[in-house]
Amino acid sequence: MPVLDVPEPAYMQDEELRLFSDAVGKFFDQKAPPKRIAAWREAGQVEQEFWREAGQAGLLGVSVPAEYGGHGGDFRHDLVVVDQLHRKSIEGFAASLHNIIVTPYIQLHGTEEQKHRWLPRLVTGELIAAIAMSEPGAGSDLQSIRTTALKSNGGYLINGSKTFISNGQISNFVVVVAKTDPAQGARGTSLLVVETGKVDGFRRGKKLDKIGMEAQDTSELFFDNVWVPAENLLGGVEGRGFFQLMAELPRERLLMAISGVITMEKAIGATIEYVKTRKAFGQTVFDFQNTQFKLAECKAKATVAKVFVNDCVEKVLAGKLDVTMASIAKLWVTETEWEIVDTCLQLHGGYGYVNEYPIAQMFRNSRVQRIYGGSSEIMKLIIARSL
Ligand SMILES: Cc1cc2nc3c(=O)[nH]c(=O)nc-3n(C[C@H](O)[C@H](O)[C@H](O)COP(=O)(O)OP(=O)(O)OC[C@H]3O[C@@H](n4cnc5c(N)ncnc54)[C@H](O)[C@@H]3O)c2cc1C
Repeated sequence: MPVLDVPEPAYMQDEELRLFSDAVGKFFDQKAPPKRIAAWREAGQVEQEFWREAGQAGLLGVSVPAEYGGHGGDFRHDLVVVDQLHRKSIEGFAASLHNIIVTPYIQLHGTEEQKHRWLPRLVTGELIAAIAMSEPGAGSDLQSIRTTALKSNGGYLINGSKTFISNGQISNFVVVVAKTDPAQGARGTSLLVVETGKVDGFRRGKKLDKIGMEAQDTSELFFDNVWVPAENLLGGVEGRGFFQLMAELPRERLLMAISGVITMEKAIGATIEYVKTRKAFGQTVFDFQNTQFKLAECKAKATVAKVFVNDCVEKVLAGKLDVTMASIAKLWVTETEWEIVDTCLQLHGGYGYVNEYPIAQMFRNSRVQRIYGGSSEIMKLIIARSL
């Protein structure tokens, strides 16, 4: 029985999307069994081979048009992959980052030549994507980044260091945010693509030892006089970086809200199951009115979140999701996700603190939702601008 009584979004009634969803689910069942995911967690990263398997199975670049080697779907197909990924707890495989965050930069802002050069290889998994914005000295305050990309020999010399980069160890296609004109602030910022296998001076630093998402490699990256040809400047015009970033951030933020709702559902479902079997004081933990009230509150909040997020998805499909609404979704859903996961862990007692129980992992993995992709405080700043 579903945990929430909220109808699936209208687009999920589409027969073709249902079939695609089944195929994605089967791929994960077959190719990412718990044993393989445990190995990724142990290694701190997913092996590159899995990316190629996913590419072959049609899970990458699902919304890239066929003329660029893609599968010709749209945002709904991207969401199907995200949905299955989270429901089946496929940790570490950052398909959402690749498909919904990085690939669209090329698809929507690249020149024709760039689209033909990179999109087909992003679809097959030959290229594994990362986006390098954050630096040791600048995360929320992106305008203060210090990485530069200065004109040299018909191209750009990139210098600087990045940190917290998801897919940092396994990516070979990094979109780097850099200042092409340091005197110009935001207007001097550009996005440049570094194909790591084709350059000198690029180095991967430490894989960061995080409190959650162990299967995902989050790393430092260093650029020491890395030369890229002028053709690697995204869109071919300098100073467009902030515009390109801002245009794509609402969808990225909604993505976090979408995964937040799935986590809420999973947390509530796992907790109902647990408290109905756990006994204390001669009854089940579920029998305590406190437990029922807590779970009722969780269900009420998760229901509101799901209805709201479904509406935001419809807005994206209609091209109407604005920056404020996306920030509201990210802020409210991820903060509420955290409250729900914490409540659910509490209802597990000591077992909630043991990694073997799914709620423990949800707790550790959820914490970052309020931080990355723009922290809750930054979301409030953005929302406040609309007041
Ligand atoms: C697991 C993980 C994966 C990540 N993946 C990527 C990635 O792939 N690519 C990438 O570029 N980055 C990535 N990040 C970085 C992430 O986006 C940043 O950590 C985030 O934007 C916050 O920046 P910061 O860590 O520098 O914190 P800071 O900017 O130093 O902020 C510290 C605190 O101050 C608060 N604060 C900052 N400014 C204000 C303000 N004006 N008003 C009120 N409070 C404020 C913040 O909300 C926060 O609470 C990742 C981070 C993590 C943890």
